[in-house]
Amino acid sequence: MSIARWLQDRPVGLEKAYRATAALIRWMEPVLRRIGFDRLDGLFEWGERVLKIPLFDCQMCGMCNLRGTGMTCPMSCPKNLRNGPCGGVRQNGKCEVNPEMDCVWALAWKRSAQMQTYGDRILQTHPPVDRSLEGSSAWLNMLDGRDEKMPEGWQHGGAGQTLISPDQIRVLRHE
Ligand code: SF4
Repeated sequence: MSIARWLQDRPVGLEKAYRATAALIRWMEPVLRRIGFDRLDGLFEWGERVLKIPLFDCQMCGMCNLRGTGMTCPMSCPKNLRNGPCGGVRQNGKCEVNPEMDCVWALAWKRSAQMQTYGDRILQTHPPVDRSLEGSSAWLNMLDGRDEKMPEGWQHGGAGQTLISPDQIRVLRHE
């Protein structure tokens, strides 16, 4: 088993690292804004490539949702699904497109149950991928709110809302 896989299967540490990084970046936001996100994008994007590709098999989508998917990159799903599995998950938990790989969403569900802060985010709907952000810094897009932007048609259709109640999730997780 690779170190990355070992860490992803125990996402509490990754969640803490995410929270610390997010807090630092938000604290630095006034300075970053003064310098200009456009000027900083190359540097941030490089940092994300170096860290997130080996750790999460990151595809540099520019709108990171790791905290909403048990620190499992949803873009590593062959169908790039951002709101749950496709329905073709095999009974053994493998992907229907690539039977060698575990279903990304089956992993995300299991891992999110271990997360203390963001575990319930998996119950929310998330915006579809905005391909115009591909290759840009997800951290800067987060500061700008571009990663959470919903298409107009989704505004009143439940986007960003929790799909099931906390009681229902406890039943599903056998708590
Ligand atoms: S969700 Fe996007 S930015 Fe986050 S790890 Fe996956 S491809 Fe990278």
